[in-house]
Amino acid sequence: MRTLLILGASGDLTGRLLLPGLARLIRMRRGDGLTLVGAGSDDWTDAHWRERIDGAFASAMEKADDAGRAALQDVRDRSSYHFLDVTKDGLADLVHTLEGPVAVYFALPPAVSQLACSALGPNSLPKSTRLVMEKPFGTDQASAHRLNEKLARLVPEQNIHRVDHFLGKATVFNILGLRFANRILEPVWNNLHIEKVEVIFDEDLALENRARYYDGAGALRDMIQSHLVHVMALLALNAPSTLHERDLRDHIGSILRASTVDLDSPASSRRARYTAGTIGDRPIPDYTAEPGVDPSKNTETLAEVTVSINNERWSGVPFILRSGKALGAKRKEAVITFRPVSHLPLGFTGQDAPTKLRIGFGPDTLQLELDVNGPGDIFSLDRATLSADLNETDLLPYGEVLDGVLAGDPTLSVRGDTAEDCWRIVEPVLKAWAEDRVPLEEYPAGSAGPEDWPSSHGRV
Ligand code: NDP
Repeated sequence: MRTLLILGASGDLTGRLLLPGLARLIRMRRGDGLTLVGAGSDDWTDAHWRERIDGAFASAMEKADDAGRAALQDVRDRSSYHFLDVTKDGLADLVHTLEGPVAVYFALPPAVSQLACSALGPNSLPKSTRLVMEKPFGTDQASAHRLNEKLARLVPEQNIHRVDHFLGKATVFNILGLRFANRILEPVWNNLHIEKVEVIFDEDLALENRARYYDGAGALRDMIQSHLVHVMALLALNAPSTLHERDLRDHIGSILRASTVDLDSPASSRRARYTAGTIGDRPIPDYTAEPGVDPSKNTETLAEVTVSINNERWSGVPFILRSGKALGAKRKEAVITFRPVSHLPLGFTGQDAPTKLRIGFGPDTLQLELDVNGPGDIFSLDRATLSADLNETDLLPYGEVLDGVLAGDPTLSVRGDTAEDCWRIVEPVLKAWAEDRVPLEEYPAGSAGPEDWPSSHGRV
């Protein structure tokens, strides 16, 4: 038996992402004696909570077979709700009444999560309790460190899941499989052969009424700090000896510890904010006119930083991380650009473009762009692209998060030391932006980003 206790039962994350993710997980893998408990500061009845579950489980119910439907119904029927202000006493007592191991999911505003952790006394929880912390994990390196110290008093590090739902397990292992199971890649996977690495997450969604959170965060904190640096680490790490979470997370940690942004180098960070435009046929207002936005905060909706990984393999190779909202097209990929050949036999004509490897995320794809002698003139080089679709999970991102949490497997979650390093990498940039040392540029919603950013022209 095991219990998932969701704090913040009435919240957006719970209704929109957690419960549907859980429903898909139960539909695919069955409930396995899972007890679902909701808690929050609204005085709800069990029946009211179950209505919320019904809404979030509906789509999975529709698609489930008989056994899947029975499992979903069973979890729903046995679930209960507790009226609880998590910042006061009572959370530890509640956990003790539940059947363990109990996974406590903090689906709460970050400040409330911190107060809830402070309200718990040292050793007040059963040692098997798992704590699931959402992003943002702190607001800077120092606050992440303080939060880590608080959590360390409650349960062992192994039981702390800091959520990074950006890459699913299949995608993580696709990257590692591609890199380490193919003899031809590792010998060229270094600064002798690779010119630059880009990790790009462009969204075609604008603010979507999330000003309360987003206007205080911006693209650098929301995406680059908490997700893209991890993708970078997976692309850059040395081969771990096993895929065990400890080996893997040690290697991720070692890359992030070696990573810095050199603010003295030109264009090492850029920021921009969208103005009015259209995406498809959707009119999008200027970011500053979106409800709930405080224009004086100068929040960026598009950010780009160039990270250096200061080790022998990667010295001199820029890792360009970019993410933004309200762009004309979705783009979620890593692009590895190889150096030109040292000598192209004289006589060839044509484009002579660099070899590129594109790794697309969700759906996971692979494209290798090569110059070949195409049809027609035998001396003329043409572009050819080799493509493959890769393995994907059937679980929604939050189904994968919950799968790891309920199995006690922290492979996909962020280790405490790494969470602090993610802040250390971006903090100098945040400081430079706060001091207006980098201009806040603009781009029309629905465009590819500011014209003079090379990454705005990247989809070749
Ligand atoms: P919401 O504001 O929608 O929900 C917060 C929940 O916390 C509400 O149910 C609220 O109850 C409850 N709550 C607040 N104070 C207390 C208290 N003292 N005791 C008990 N319950 C309390 O936030 P979100 O769901 O959007 O976000 C939750 C977390 O998830 C945040 O850390 C966020 O950064 C993260 N996240 C959210 C995403 C999203 O798309 N929403 C995506 C990724 C991460 P009440 O309404 O009664 O106050």
